[in-house]
Amino acid sequence: MDPDQPSFRLIRTNKGGEKMLEGGYLYLMHRRVGEMTHWQCEQRGECKARVHTKGMEIVKRTNEHLHAPDVQATACCEIKAGIKRKARDTQDSSHQIIGEGMLTASEGTAAKLPKLDSLKRTIQRQRASVLSAPVQPTALAELVLPAEYQRTAKGEQFLLYDSGEDDAHRFLIFGTQRNLGMLQQSKIWLADGTFKTAPPLFAQIMNVRDHGIAVRSKAIGMLEAGVPLKDVALRLGVGLRSIKRWWAAAKCGHSLETKARSGRPKTLNRAAKIVIAKSLEKRRHSTRNIAKSLAEKGYSASSSTAYRHLTKNLGARAFKRPQIPRITERVKGNRLLFAHNHKDWTIEDWRKVLWSDESPFELFSTPNRQNDRVWSKNGKDISPVFKVKFPAKVMVWGMMSYRALSELHIIPQKQSVDAAYYRDNILGVTCLDAIIRSSKQVALWKDQCC
Ligand SMILES: [Zn+2]
Repeated sequence: MDPDQPSFRLIRTNKGGEKMLEGGYLYLMHRRVGEMTHWQCEQRGECKARVHTKGMEIVKRTNEHLHAPDVQATACCEIKAGIKRKARDTQDSSHQIIGEGMLTASEGTAAKLPKLDSLKRTIQRQRASVLSAPVQPTALAELVLPAEYQRTAKGEQFLLYDSGEDDAHRFLIFGTQRNLGMLQQSKIWLADGTFKTAPPLFAQIMNVRDHGIAVRSKAIGMLEAGVPLKDVALRLGVGLRSIKRWWAAAKCGHSLETKARSGRPKTLNRAAKIVIAKSLEKRRHSTRNIAKSLAEKGYSASSSTAYRHLTKNLGARAFKRPQIPRITERVKGNRLLFAHNHKDWTIEDWRKVLWSDESPFELFSTPNRQNDRVWSKNGKDISPVFKVKFPAKVMVWGMMSYRALSELHIIPQKQSVDAAYYRDNILGVTCLDAIIRSSKQVALWKDQCC
């Protein structure tokens, strides 16, 4: 292990205390003694394991744990703590925070994390607990923006318009006077809505920008003249990241045109795609099962989404699992023996063979309901099929050879075909009749000969 890296991690608890994670065990703080901190195993009732730390070093251990370490549980704790910290310290969207947390999780850990909705609530609670963040309102009319949220960090007015508490379709417009001035001068406005980052109560965030070719080419011109990136960003009132992106694109010789983007947010994020790809490699699930396991991991994706990703992006196709008869060693031996014994038979020999079999026929039923589908715009004009509750089944026996064809022998209802029935009714009557008609010497094979 890297000696500079402490072997344990500290995480903050809700009540402002600390927990310690080490080697798959979770410790609660017991007390501080001078520079030392005493920790006790979280299962302090039963387990007597204790650890003393000084700074970021473990200086003393007492008692062994009475239970196995749970690496996934402690990893889970750490990820949750990271999500809470980001909720308090950043303005990132819940999706972004959870997504970043999930990326570091192994599959096993991800499965142990709380559901997506509960993580989102955790984030909201953390934000509500930070004094400056207003509590999530439950109705649009209740939304009151505190003064500090109406201005930019530099103190400029940022809230430009509020349609008012009485408006059932309330909307807010944010922007600065300088941005408005830029829009006014620009020939091209780009507008795009995003649903994903919109806070609850609001349907979407609509983004209106210019950043048209004029602004871009101006920026590139200034950069080529040697003006530093930061100054260009400041002078044009464009974000530094945009300027950097344009500059990188210009250096690669890309066009200044803004590319069209697809409108609907993607349902599958990177982590969900990994889950699907893994199921393709290892376990070969049906899309229904994939959708189910995605839901268990907190991603919402339907089976058709999984289907689309598998077919279009991963190049997979759906196959029916082939069914092959399970053959015992004894049957294999018999078949091999049969093949050996008859491998030198001539066509003339085979012409002496009678082939026979019986088969059940079910009256009034569709063999496979899956194939009995019709397409229509409404379900009303579809003619139904009659379903007979206990459809009649008949057992039919037949025989053929090179020279003869037997009559069909229909076995009466509830008649079990035992040796006596077979001999007296099938061989003795139907079969004999056919043999006499062909009047040749023949060998007889029943289907179960081997
Ligand atoms: Zn313990």
